[in-house]
Amino acid sequence: SDQFDQKADDIIGKMPHDVLKIISASEVMADFSKVLSTGKRLTKESHIELKGQSVWFLVAMFPLKNELGEITSIATVARNITQLKQAESVLRKLSRAVEQSSASIIITDINGNIEFINKKTSELTGYAPEELIGKNPRIFKSGETLPEEYKKLWQTIKSGGEWRGEFHNKKKNNELFWELASLSALRDENEIITHFLAIKEDITFRKEMEGLLRSALDKAEESNKLKSNLLNNMSHELRTPMNGILGFASILKEEILDPIQKDLLEKLIRSSKRLMSTLNSILDFSMVESNGFELKLKSQSINQAIELVIPIYTEIAKEKDLVLIYNPKVKNAVSSIDERFLTQVLDNLVDNAIKFTNKGEIIITVDSAINDGKKWNLLKVKDTGIGIPEASSKVIFQEFRQVSEGTSRDFEGSGLGLTLAKKITEMMNGDISLESSLGKGSEFTLWLPATEADPGNNLNNIKQTIISSNEIKQFAEQPEGKANVLLVEDQMLNVQVTQLYLKPYCCMEYAVSVDSALKMVKNKVYDAILMDINLGLGMSGTQAAKVIRELPGYSKVPIIACTGYAMIGDREKFLKEGFDGYIAKPFEKDTLIQTLKDLQVGQKKN
Ligand code: ADP
Repeated sequence: SDQFDQKADDIIGKMPHDVLKIISASEVMADFSKVLSTGKRLTKESHIELKGQSVWFLVAMFPLKNELGEITSIATVARNITQLKQAESVLRKLSRAVEQSSASIIITDINGNIEFINKKTSELTGYAPEELIGKNPRIFKSGETLPEEYKKLWQTIKSGGEWRGEFHNKKKNNELFWELASLSALRDENEIITHFLAIKEDITFRKEMEGLLRSALDKAEESNKLKSNLLNNMSHELRTPMNGILGFASILKEEILDPIQKDLLEKLIRSSKRLMSTLNSILDFSMVESNGFELKLKSQSINQAIELVIPIYTEIAKEKDLVLIYNPKVKNAVSSIDERFLTQVLDNLVDNAIKFTNKGEIIITVDSAINDGKKWNLLKVKDTGIGIPEASSKVIFQEFRQVSEGTSRDFEGSGLGLTLAKKITEMMNGDISLESSLGKGSEFTLWLPATEADPGNNLNNIKQTIISSNEIKQFAEQPEGKANVLLVEDQMLNVQVTQLYLKPYCCMEYAVSVDSALKMVKNKVYDAILMDINLGLGMSGTQAAKVIRELPGYSKVPIIACTGYAMIGDREKFLKEGFDGYIAKPFEKDTLIQTLKDLQVGQKKN
């Protein structure tokens, strides 16, 4: 009566359905007549809404009989089984989830014998449940996991911990597959371990992808290395003969008096230089593309970095009767830059400005501006040239693209200059913008984030490459007489060029191999050594320089790398390896003399 909230007095004399409200009157009558006719007990589950909640009962009706076996009354017993029903439903859900799980799930007893597997386990391994139940999971072993690992695994889960790891396991058909497994113990209400549970994910596909990716990465790295090697060799092989061509042509130009021949030589030199500049852009571009170098960024003054090259630009502009004006609006614009590359970018912009301007002026400005709440330093190159049509203003920053293209193009050039300039500028966290008006001129602006000056920076690293004839004369008239220079070079063509270049200023001796060079330096202490790097078989120039450095008297003698390895970053590499100077082939006379002068070759030593 408690369960139905009714008193016993109210219940007696009523029909069960009036009291229980579990079953309808007709159902009760039908059940009663069934009990009466069969004389047997009847049980069923019934369900009602009681105070807004779903309640389940197990209802049993018993026939009560007299001594003659006649049914005299029917006892109805109803038991509340709601909790049982709820637990059953939770269990059903759990078992469905386990069954339908995309992970493979295995439960073993404490001895490791399989008691349960889900569908996924069968699908994955190819074993039917009856083939696995009662077996030990070692049936999956491929033999790749070490016994110590299994030992550790069992220790972990037996002590109540969770073991996670990968298995390379075997299917029924002997095919191997990868699993990422989580193994742990199941405990009863007394915390005693009764079973072990394994939840495993098939990671074969992921493993294969990882393998493919790794080998693709290895291949990419290898081909990148090959590319760098190829570029290095190309650079070397093309520059070395160019040294001879340019060198002899410029020597001849000085010797020859006939104006027509002089003019022809001038053209030869100009063509060679153009070839060199194209080669340089292509090599630099490939180097930048393959991420083969890094900038060395330092907070320093843009003004100071570029002021050194302005006189050179002025000279070049003068050849085309153009005026070059340097007009800094900001006197000390500090940004994080690599000055060598900043000048390379500026070189490109100024080269273009001169190339595409026939009359008027080129103005180089340093300025500053605020954009997006950030302070920027601006380096502007403005010309009064042919201008750039709006439609081409984006295209020209793409590799190999020019305003006038195809066989009818009007200007020479590789179309790489601006691409390189933009890439390098981006590596300095900046950008290049362009304003142009067709027929009136163009203005390229380099945007560089403004930074604070770094007090430790020495700003004047770049040496001016233009030297006056007066300076060369001073160099020649050393008080102690001419300096003794040793050239180590296996190409006779280059030996001759260098000999001609140096004749007025130095006594030059040469060695065509490292072996003979080493013999010579042991007999005499030279004032400087010019060292080719790639000297054929045997020791390289770099190794030779290291050996010479250790010889008596040579600890301070300038050793200069003279090499066709002249790509971005090579100068720094050679200086780091112990050379005092670096000259890229093909080099001009002035560069060679200036390098020797900078290293104070032949000057009075105190
Ligand atoms: P290149 O000069 O070797 O062709 P660049 O990448 O330096 O390659 O320039 C691409 C193109 O952009 C040039 O061919 C030219 O059409 C155009 N251009 C660049 N600078 C200027 C300029 N100052 N005035 C007019 N056109 C220019």
